[in-house]
Order: sequence, then structure tokens, then C-alpha cells
Amino acid sequence: MKSHVQVAVIGGGVVGCSVLYHLTKLGWRDVVLIERSELTSGSTWHAAGGFHTLNADTNMAALQGYTIQLYKELEEISGQSCGLHHVGGLTIASDNDRMDYLKAEHAKHRYMGLDTKLVGPNEIREISPIVDTQGIVGALYDPLDGHLDPSGTTHAYAKAAKVQGAEIYLRNPVMELKPRGDGTWDVVTEQGTIHAEHVVNAGGLWAREVGAMAGIYHPLHPMEHQYLVTDDIPEVYEHGSELPHVMDPGGETYLRQEGRGLVLGIYEQDCAPWAVDGTPWDFGHELLPDNLDRIAEPLEAAYHRYPCLEKAGIKRVINGPFTFAPDGNPLVGPMPGLPGYWAACAVMAGFSQGGGVGLVLAEWMVEGEPSRDVFAMDVARFGDFTTRTYTRLKVVENYQRRFAISYPNEELPAARPLATTPAYGIWKALNAVFGAGYGMEHVNYFAPPGEAPYEIPSFRRSNAFPTVTEECRAVREAVGINEIHNFGKYEVTGPDAESWLNLIMANRTPALGRIALTPMLSPKGKLIGDFTMTRLAPERFQLTASFSAQSYHLRWFQQNLPAAGVTLRNLSTERIGFQIAGPKARDLLSRVTRADVSNAALPFLHALQADVGLVPATICRVSYTGDLGYEIYVHREHQVALYQALSEAGADLGLRPFGMRAMMSLRLEKSFGSWLREYKPDYTAAETGLDRFISFKKNAFIGRDAAMAERDQPPARKLVTLVVEANDADVVADEPVWHGEEVVGFVTSGGYAHYVQKSVALALIPRDLANDGAAFEVEILGERRPAKLITQALYDPKGERMRG
Ligand SMILES: Cc1cc2nc3c(=O)[nH]c(=O)nc-3n(C[C@H](O)[C@H](O)[C@H](O)COP(=O)(O)OP(=O)(O)OC[C@H]3O[C@@H](n4cnc5c(N)ncnc54)[C@H](O)[C@@H]3O)c2cc1C
Repeated sequence: MKSHVQVAVIGGGVVGCSVLYHLTKLGWRDVVLIERSELTSGSTWHAAGGFHTLNADTNMAALQGYTIQLYKELEEISGQSCGLHHVGGLTIASDNDRMDYLKAEHAKHRYMGLDTKLVGPNEIREISPIVDTQGIVGALYDPLDGHLDPSGTTHAYAKAAKVQGAEIYLRNPVMELKPRGDGTWDVVTEQGTIHAEHVVNAGGLWAREVGAMAGIYHPLHPMEHQYLVTDDIPEVYEHGSELPHVMDPGGETYLRQEGRGLVLGIYEQDCAPWAVDGTPWDFGHELLPDNLDRIAEPLEAAYHRYPCLEKAGIKRVINGPFTFAPDGNPLVGPMPGLPGYWAACAVMAGFSQGGGVGLVLAEWMVEGEPSRDVFAMDVARFGDFTTRTYTRLKVVENYQRRFAISYPNEELPAARPLATTPAYGIWKALNAVFGAGYGMEHVNYFAPPGEAPYEIPSFRRSNAFPTVTEECRAVREAVGINEIHNFGKYEVTGPDAESWLNLIMANRTPALGRIALTPMLSPKGKLIGDFTMTRLAPERFQLTASFSAQSYHLRWFQQNLPAAGVTLRNLSTERIGFQIAGPKARDLLSRVTRADVSNAALPFLHALQADVGLVPATICRVSYTGDLGYEIYVHREHQVALYQALSEAGADLGLRPFGMRAMMSLRLEKSFGSWLREYKPDYTAAETGLDRFISFKKNAFIGRDAAMAERDQPPARKLVTLVVEANDADVVADEPVWHGEEVVGFVTSGGYAHYVQKSVALALIPRDLANDGAAFEVEILGERRPAKLITQALYDPKGERMRG
């Protein structure tokens, strides 16, 4: 065994072996994998081996596509068969909503290069004659679906990695992980200690325990999962070719051929978390006792859907555990605050996702950043808000919803409320409908008095629509109030604060009392943040960005902080407050502060510190609504007092609370982008227009060379605004944009702009097509709707309201 390595991967399941293989693929040779038993000794050996591309996140779907296409390459390099069966697969819809969902997924596949198709009941019967199509509306057929041999595939990854220089140490448990303080680790194993520059936790079923060795908690939980293998069935073995997979979400089952019989897997509502207090170290190549009672109901539905099952005996029941994160996506990447420690765990579909996870992690380690936005599986999308109970409840919810339709306006109820601000009680009394992000509750809108505070999940305009219109109108015609707690907020102080911010942000730091918007770029020029910087004192700055990106941003800050001269504090939940926005916002503010807030004294993009009502506050003149607006930041203990002052003073001005739905509608009227929609690491500043906030005059900043290159040679695509002739459904994200008979781009986000009464889509399209008035079509729920490109914002295009 080596005593010093570049990377020690812990865990020889499909994920660890894929990470090992991809590290060698990208050129690192001094890499080892340590496995406590034999390869596949966790979840991997008893998997059903199915693979598919369908995933709500387009980057996840693309990585699943990559995984599936990788297997041939693996077989060639390793000489080991993966036991591939590319039989294709149907996902069936037994109601119209499910069909809408499949139509939306199918539309996305157009620009992702995936060759899926929508089929009706007759075609379904042709593709898979064992399906009883009664009650079925249609299905999505994906020719890439199939299954493989889990053990063969894991060994193929391992062999291919070894061929390319990696070593694997079997029967050797890792017992301790000791940081040396310089970002490297002593990995203490039964057979000795290895000094590793990087460690990767690919511990699968034991990832929680391996994380605990490094002093951290990974929000993941194992669930029991059962599938049945039937005896031989004539309808199966007499069918001329191998039958395709069938996913029946309504019935909570998946089905495929296995030899002369079938495999039927079940995601049941009555599901069971496993090893709640930790995975026993002596669990290995064993199964859990069957529990057919738990799956009786979906089983009965399956017997109706596939009548041939009725005559078949059950040969085997497999009940095995595997792990999930609270949202069902993997936990991958560098652990915030823990240099040299990387996660590759909570991979619930190792044979669909394992290749993509290995590729992304290897890119991140070898090249410094992944080649695409992987926030959907980034370990940093969860922060320290997660508790063990939160994780378990969310994982159960996710398991139960494995086959549920995900509606764009849906808020999932489990483990809520977790974090709230003092204003929560005020909003609740006003009949607020809440959403949650990064554990924190926020108001989506206020339901009318007497109506249940619930937004009905839908792909079309929901019951929130009329109220959101009213909330938008209050902002545009009087004044609205909304919380600003769901910004991430950081304080940067110290003698080197300015020079550090000038290094990590692309814009120049503002002068004292001024505010500047700025993109934050990766070394390759990708957008990794859109920040507002406010200079509150010569050596004190406030930064604000997305609340959900806290852990993600803190990781980047910490990775780039100098040893001395800069102090960074995360004030996200400590400094909260309200924004007031609308033509009467200044009247309102002047009633509650003695400070001069006239346009001359406090112009747009300026800040001042003053008492508001009873409490000390920082007032920032910024506006995401596009109207005259102020953000008023106070300490959380002062939030209620601030509200009191504003609400009393604003009563006769028509002050009305508004929620995130209105906020996201108002910003569309101004063509303002938002984080993880228009601004994310898939895109660059010049593609999205954020290059207007880059200062090329100042000294070097991270991403400068890449941004400069784009200045010289503008990128091929451009973010634009389209006004869509929509019907009763607006775009959400990822819908294809057609130009003539060609798909030329996709929607980043959009919705209904309530005040101007237009349906809006923000989209990335080829730059040479981005001409004012150009005609396109946007596909919404399978229907191509006419859309016209506009180059002026729909509301106040000159920004006179915002600045006046
Ligand atoms: C019944 C069932 C059916 C499934 N069907 C499918 C399917 O059809 N398609 C699909 O894609 N997925 C399926 N899965 C899920 C799939 O099995 C997992 O996604 C995958 O196996 C996860 O692999 P892993 O490498 O992350 O974890 P694991 O397979 O759990 O591997 C972790 C490895 O780490 C080792 N290890 C842990 N701690 C240490 C330590 N301290 N020192 C050294 N080694 C350590 C373990 O021994 C183990 O070998 C199924 C799972 C089950 C249970």
C-alpha cells in the first residue's frame, strides 16, 4: 500500500469506482481506492441495474445521458462486460396532468439532443404488449433507457481505472480521517495510514459515518427499497425481442424483463427509513427481510396494469437499502470549510448518475471547476440548517414523491417550518401562503381573507393569479412591503477588504455610501454569483446575493480569503428587514426617519445609516421591482419594531405586503435576471448582459482573462426577452425556442408580468437572431406559441421610476 497519494477515494461501490476511473481519465495517476470489504459491498450489489435519462434538472439529465453513453467506452478499456440491455423505456401517463408533465419534459429534450418521443395508447401496446392501456393517456418513450449488470459495471470502472494507473486496496476499512491543517489528510486504515492530498467520501450506505470521521454531517438517509423477480412468463419469453422498461408513475412501479420473467420495483407510500441512527459496520452482502404488506397496494395496481403478472409466481424479493439526500439528488463536490475533503455520496441512481458524478468530481478536482452548472448536485446546496430529523422527513417525502409530478409552483410540506423570521407570525395572521428555500420560510403571496392559504399545484396559471395581480398593482401604483431576509448577506471588513473584493468581484468596489452591482466570475469566466456591494465605512462592506447560495458562496470566499487583513461574517439570518417599493415609497420612508431621503440626498444606488422608527437601520436605495425602492436592513431583534413603524405610517398610502410571486413577476417587466435562472455557472457575463457591470479598468480580478476574451469576441448566444402569446400557461424554464422549424434556444425563466399584462420569457438564443421585433415560437406544454423579441423593458424602459 502506498503511504502518500494524491487522492484516496473511500468506498468501492459504483460511485467510488467511477470517481477513480474519471480521475485517471483526466490524467491523475497517483490515485487509490480503499474498500472495507469487496467491491460492491454496499447498495451496489443488489441494485436492479436500471438506467434512464429523465430528470427534472436539465444538467442532471445531461449527465445521466453521459453515464449511459459511457458504458461502451468502459467495456472497451476494461475488457469487462457491463451486461448492457439497451431496450428503451416508456414512462406512462394515466392522467392529463402527468401527460402535461411528460410534454414539458419532451420539449426540453429537443435542445438537449435527446431523442425521446410522445406516444399514444396504440403505440404503447405495440412497444410493450404486456401493458394494459386502459386509462392511459399516453407515454414518453426514451430509446436510451435500459439496464445492466451492477457488479459487472462496477468492476468495469475499477478495471478501467487500474488499466490507467489507479490502485485499489480491498478488505481495508478506513477507520479515521485526520486533517493535517494544510488541506491534506491522514487516512487511517486497518492496513496502515495513507497521507492523501485529497480524500473523497464515496462511502454510500456509510457516507454519514465516513463524514463523521471528518467531523461533518452529510444530509442523507438510507431507505429500504423492494423489487420482485418473477418466475418465467410466456408473454415475456415468447415476445420476439426483449421487452422495454415501463415506468408507471401513477402505480408507483417500474418494470423490466429479467431473463424469461420480469422485475417489478416499487416506490411505495408506506416506506421505511433504514438505519436511522447510523449504518452498522457489520452490514454487508446481505438483504433486509421482505415486507410485502407495505407494497400490497401498488402491487395490486401493477397486476391490473400488467395482467400477465397474475399468473406468475414470485421467484425472489429483494429488499435492500440505499441512500438519498433531502431532494433526491447526489451530494457532490468540495465540502465547504473543509479543504481537501470531497463528497460523492447520496447517489440514489448509481447506474444512471454514477458516470456523471465521477466526471463532475474529477473535473472539479483536476481542472478546478466542473464544465457545467452542477448546483443541483452540489454538496453546498445544503447548509448547516439541515438536522438529522429534517433530513429523514425530507428523504421520506422524496421517496414517496419519486414518481409524483413536480409542479413548477409546488411547495413541499415536509419538515416545515424549520427556520422563520420574527415577521413570520405577522404574515401568518395575514393569511400568507409560504414557500421555503434553504430551510427558511418566505411569503409567496397573501391569500384573500376567508380562502385557505394554499396554492393549488399546476402547470397552468394557479389560484394565486388574481391576488398576485393585486399585489403587483399595489407596488406599481402605491407602495408594497416585502421581506428581504431571503438574501444571503455578508459583511467584509478589514484593511484589505477593498483589495480583496476587487480581486474576487468583477466590478470595482463602490465609493463610501455607494452601492454597486457586480458579477462574481470563476477563473473560466462563468457566473458564480451576482452580488450587490454596499460600502458602509471605508473598510466595511455589505454583500448581498441569493439566500440559497450561502454555503456555495462561503466556500468560494473561504477558498480565496487571504490569511490576514480581511474578516468575513455571514449575517444572512441576523440582518434582515424589508424592502418598500412603489411610487409612494419615499413618502413612506420620510415619515419614519429624520434622515434626508430626498432624491438629492439619497439617490439611486446610494446607502445611508439612520434610525427608522425606533431602530438603527441601513437604508439602501436599490430596486429589484423596477420601481422607486429601498431595502431597510436591521438586526433581527428589531424586525417587528421596524414593521410596526412602516405599517402604521403606510396605512393611508395604500401600503400592501407582497410576496415572492409578485416580486418575480415585477422583475420580468424590467427584464431583470435572477440567480440560478439567468445567472448560473452555465453562462457567462457577456451572454447574460452582466458584462455591463464588469470593470476592466481595475487591476486583475478572478475571471478577467475569460471576460476579456468575450469582450473581443462576443459569445454566440445572448439573453433576450420574449413576449409570448400564451394561453392559460406561461413558461417556467427550459422550454425550447423555435425559429422557423428549428429549435434555436431555450427559456431560462419567465412567467406572467401582471402589471403590464403580458406573458414573458427570458431566453438564451443565438446572438445574430437577437433583433428587436424578431418572431419566434416558444413551446409551452407541447404547444408552439408565437413570441416576439423586445429590446426595451416592458415597464419604465428608461428607468425613470427607479432613479427618480
Ligand atoms: C433494491 C435496490 C434497487 C436499486 N435499483 C437501482 C436501479 O435500478 N438503478 C440504479 O441506478 N440504482 C439502483 N439502486 C441504487 C444503487 O444501488 C445506488 O445508487 C448505488 O449502489 C450507490 O453506490 P455507492 O457507490 O454510492 O454506494 P455503495 O454501493 O453503498 O458503496 C459504498 C462502498 O463504500 C464502502 N465503504 C463504506 N465505508 C467505508 C470505509 N470506512 N472504508 C472503506 N470502505 C468503505 C462500502 O463497503 C461500499 O462498498 C438500487 C438500490 C437498491 C437497494
